[in-house]
Formats: sequence, structure tokens, C-alpha cells
Amino acid sequence: KTRNGHEPEFLQAVQEVAETVIPYIYEHDIYFGKKILSRIAEPERLISFRVSWVDDSGEIQINRGYRVQMNSAIGPYKGGLRFHPTVNQSVLKFLAFEQVFKNSLTTLPMGGGKGGSDFDPKGKSDDEIMRFCHAFMSELFRHIGHDTDVPAGDIGVGAREVGYLFGMYKKLKNEFTGVLTGKGLSWGGSQIRPEATGYGAVYFAESMLKTIGKSIDEKTIVISGSGNVAQYAVEKCIQLGGKVVTMSDSSGYIYDKDGITQEKLNFIKELKNVKRGRISEYIKEYTTAEYFDGEKPWQVTCQLAFPCATQNELLIQDAESLVGNGCICVTEGANMPCDINAVEVFHKAKILFAPGKASNAGGVATSGLEMTQNALRYKWTREEVDNKLKEIMKDIHESCQQYGAEKDGYINYVKGANIAGFVKVADAMLAQGVI
Ligand code: NDP
Repeated sequence: KTRNGHEPEFLQAVQEVAETVIPYIYEHDIYFGKKILSRIAEPERLISFRVSWVDDSGEIQINRGYRVQMNSAIGPYKGGLRFHPTVNQSVLKFLAFEQVFKNSLTTLPMGGGKGGSDFDPKGKSDDEIMRFCHAFMSELFRHIGHDTDVPAGDIGVGAREVGYLFGMYKKLKNEFTGVLTGKGLSWGGSQIRPEATGYGAVYFAESMLKTIGKSIDEKTIVISGSGNVAQYAVEKCIQLGGKVVTMSDSSGYIYDKDGITQEKLNFIKELKNVKRGRISEYIKEYTTAEYFDGEKPWQVTCQLAFPCATQNELLIQDAESLVGNGCICVTEGANMPCDINAVEVFHKAKILFAPGKASNAGGVATSGLEMTQNALRYKWTREEVDNKLKEIMKDIHESCQQYGAEKDGYINYVKGANIAGFVKVADAMLAQGVI
């Protein structure tokens, strides 16, 4: 706390893990006294750098870029890049810390990292985005590599940005390697990568619901966000017979009592990914839907909820209204969207709750599959990657069950994910000694 007192998001993430992992350490002599959790909580390396670029009006702009290389005990650093004005060291350290456990859970050999910039992509022209990405990579390239650190996308970094970043890396290094994931299909990308986080979260929810004899079919579902994760969570819910009634962005949410169909979702994909518009425009196209400015969708009655926008978007009062309205399952698509108090409400009510490090691990798992395909210079089909993703999500669910089952049979997925993720990294760190 003394070293990181000014980093609230990071402290929140470490506290949540410590609460479940420390009791486990006390019960297992091999981990006791080795300061493993303290070591995991200190980044192996943290790089911060200037990104200067020229905007369309000829003005010089300056942003700060970061890469947090958190832990490489089980593989090269792996984790996304986030471009958003709220990015700072605390946010990236929290994300990198979570990533260590998440990557360990995927069963693939990937360490944890995260990076990004306080650059705001909103309202920027395509040329400005390109110049920024090139400037960002002109420093980052010396710290990453396909066997060292493999970044991917996150908030504000999608296929377009990964393209510009990869182009500059390739030029500077004069090599074509799998140094970034989330690449386009024609230049090294994997099938299913764009879909993987959202689809994976829904596969995870399916596994949880199965434990209580239920499924996605015919459930009313509330989803927040309208970016990459939210879009594909909605798509998979629709395919499995669910009725999704909300989506949102940072300005507000839409409520469609008739349910968002694939056709309506295609409209949202075009609106968000191509036109880069606001979710409020949905009600101009679908006039029976409603828009709630400045609000979040957690008051809407549902059986299933998927927070898929950003950290701390679901607080205690939101959790209470979800539970009060009969919600039986909350699956995090985003990273840490539910704060600690909200999670406590779900646990007290004994409803199903999946922490992001387990339920949104499908994205990084498929990135891991992209790395393997790049290394093999080979391509798996859509079905092959989707089947691997399903298997990985099932395995993660089983690990959570193994370490998270309470005496009364309730599965505490937070505890399960934290301990399962910890054990693999801790064992590797013990084997490698104090370094
Ligand atoms: P996108 O940038 O594609 O979408 C983010 C969505 O969240 C947008 O709808 C955005 O609205 C909204 N949002 C962003 N910031 C805020 C805020 N402060 N308040 C309310 N809404 C906000 O990002 P992704 O879908 O990729 O990521 C969403 C979450 O999922 C993040 O927590 C990310 O870390 C996590 N995640 C993503 C993975 C991936 O593969 N992409 C993998 C694992 C986790 P607006 O359009 O107004 O900005």
C-alpha cells in the first residue's frame, strides 16, 4: 500500500485477489513465506514514454504511452493496449495484474502485461489515428517481440489500430512475426478472434447455468457496452435463444423491449465500428426502443446480466436492483466492471457470478491460438478455433469449480479463478527461484 497508495484501481484488484489467495497460501506450506503474491503485485518492468504526433491542423500533440510487463513466469508478456483518456499507471497496473491470473487460467503459456495511452480516439480522423499509432509504435517496438511481449487490442484499439501498429513494427524491425494479435485475417490474424471475448463469456455463462439446470434459451438479458465484447456477447446470446434488451455506451443505454435481433445488431455494428456513432442513434432506426441518457442499464428486469463496457460500471445499488429484480447470473465481459461491494451482494444472494479474469479469458486464449498459428505459419478453420475456444472456456469453468466450491455447494467463481490462476504462476516462480 505504501508503494501504490496513489493507485486506487490497482489496489482494488490486488485486494480482491489477496482476500481469496492469502488464506490458500496459509493452508499450503510450499507457498508460505515466499512472498509470491507480493512479487506478482510488483511489475517486472514498467515503461512509460512520450508519444508526440501532429494533428490534422498541424498542431503538435503530446500523449503518454505505457507498457506494463507484469509477469513472465509462464510465458511471454501478453495483454492488450488501451487508448482512452482515463488511462493511467494505476488502471494499466490493475489490468496487467488481472491479466497474469487470466492468462494462467487459459492453460496456454502466456505471461501477463498491459499497455496503452491517454490518447482519446473519439473525434479523430483516420489519418490522425494512423499517425498516433505509428508514433506510439516508434517507441514501443524496442520493448516487444513475438517471444518477449505480444500486445493486442482493448478499449479504443480494434482491427484498424492493430493494423497501423503492426505496419510500423514491421517497418522498424524488418520482420513479419506474430508480435501483435488481433491482426486482419489476410495478414496473420486468427478466425474467431474478434468474436472470442464475447462468445467466450456466453459459453462460460452456459457452463455456470448448467450447474443449476438452466440455459440461455428464452432468458431476458441485459448487456452494457456496444464495443467489441458487447457486440459478440449479444450475438451469441441471440444464437442461443436469449432475448437481449439493452446495450449502452459511455453516454447512456437503449432499451428494446422486443429484443435486439441479429438484424438490429448488424445496425449497431455498422453504427459503432464504421460510422463511429452513438448508441442513442438506435432509437431513430428502431422507434419502439427507448434511450436513457447518462444512465446504466442495471435497473432493467432480467435473468442474466453481462457488464461488457468498462471497470467499476456496476456498483452496490446496481447489484441490489439486479438481485431484487430476479437476476440469477452475472457474467463479466469487461475487466472488473463490478466493484468489490457489488460482488459481495451477488455472493450473499448466492446467485451465479463470474469474474472477468475467468469469463472474458476467451479473447486472450484465442490470441494465444493466433500466436501458435503464426509460429506454425498455419491457419485453423473457423470451426477448429471455435471448438478450441469452447474447450478452453469449459476447462476454465472446471478449474473455478475445483478451487471455488464452498461447503454448501455454492461455487465462488472469484475464489476459484484467483486460486487456480495463482497456483500455476506461483509454481513456476518457485521453480525459477528469486529473480
Ligand atoms: P471497445 O472500445 O470496443 O468498447 C468499449 C465499450 O465500453 C464502448 O461501448 C464504450 O462506449 C464503453 N465505455 C468505455 N469507457 C466507458 C466508460 N468510462 N463508461 C461507460 N462506458 C464506457 O472495448 P472492448 O469491447 O474491447 O472492451 C470492453 C471491456 O472488455 C474492457 O473492460 C476491456 O478491458 C475488456 N476486455 C476486452 C477484450 C477484448 O478482446 N476486446 C478481452 C478481455 C477483456 P463509447 O463508445 O462511448 O466509448
